Amino acid sequence: MARKRERGFPLDPEPLPVPVVDNHTHLDAIADLVADGSPVPTVADHVARATAVGVDRMVQVGCDLPSVEWTDALLRDAEADALLGAVAIHPNEAVLHAGVREVGPDGLEPQPRPHHSTSLADAIARVAEVARDNPRVRAVGETGMDLFRTGPQGEEAQRESFRAHVALAKELGLALQIHDRDAHEQVIEVLLADGAPERTVFHCFSGDAAMAALAAEHGWYLSFAGTVTYPKNTHLREALRTVPLELVLVETDAPYLPPHPFRGQPNAPYVAAHTVRAMAEVLDRPLADVCRAVSDNTGRVYGSW
Ligand SMILES: [Zn+2]
Repeated sequence: MARKRERGFPLDPEPLPVPVVDNHTHLDAIADLVADGSPVPTVADHVARATAVGVDRMVQVGCDLPSVEWTDALLRDAEADALLGAVAIHPNEAVLHAGVREVGPDGLEPQPRPHHSTSLADAIARVAEVARDNPRVRAVGETGMDLFRTGPQGEEAQRESFRAHVALAKELGLALQIHDRDAHEQVIEVLLADGAPERTVFHCFSGDAAMAALAAEHGWYLSFAGTVTYPKNTHLREALRTVPLELVLVETDAPYLPPHPFRGQPNAPYVAAHTVRAMAEVLDRPLADVCRAVSDNTGRVYGSW
C-alpha cells in the first residue's frame, strides 16, 4: 500500500479493524510543534487523517485559560462532531495563577503569561462555567499534581486546584482526567480523602503494576500514551498487563509523546493507532478485541458522541 509521508509527522499506520477514540489530545498545541515549515494541519485535517486509520473520535483537552476558550468555541462548531472536550486549569498553570514563581526539580524558570494575572479562583470559575454550559464538555481535566515542575509552594497551589476540580467533576457529573507527574502518592491521597468522581481517568498513566492494581481496585481508568512503547518503560507494560482490559484507554497527548520509534516528531490523533497496536502486542490479545474494549470503555467514561 502506498503511504503518505509528510515531513515532520510519523508515518500513517495501517487502519485499525475497529475504530477507537484518542482519549486525550491538544489540537490547538500541535501547530506549535510543526516547526519545519510544512503546512499546519487544520482540525478537519486531523479528524480526516485519524478517521482514515480508525481513530474516528477524540477528546480535545483545553487546560489553560486561552485553550479552554478555544476548546469551548471548537466544540460549538457543527463541523466538530468527532470531538468531545475536557477543560481544566493544568497543575503547572495553577501554580502560575496562584502567583508562585518557584523553580522545581526540572530546573526551568517559571514563564508567566498575561492570562496568569487572573486569580486561581477566577480561572477555575471560568472552567466551571464552560463545563456547565457546553454539553460537549464531558470531562474536567487535565488536573492533578506535577512535582517535577514545582517545589513546596507550588505543591500547595496544585493540591488546592486539584481538590477544586475533583469537586467540580462530582458536582457536574463529569469524568475526571488526572495529570500525575512524580506525584502518585499525593494524587491518590486527595482522591481517597475527598472521594474520586465516578469516572476517574489517569491520563498518560505513569505508574507501575502496584499502582495499576490499586487503581483497578477503585475502578479508576488508566489511559496509556506513546510512553507505553518506550523501551525503558517496562513498568508501564507491566501496569497494562495488570489492569483489567475494561479499565484501559488509549490516547496520544498530542503534540507530545509520540510512540517509539517516532520520538522527537510531532504527534497527532491518528498516531493513536500505532499505540493501540503496540498495546495489543503487549497484552498478547487480538487487535480487534483490544480496540473494541477500548472503544466501549471510552463510551462508558464520556457518553455518546
Ligand atoms: Zn495533556
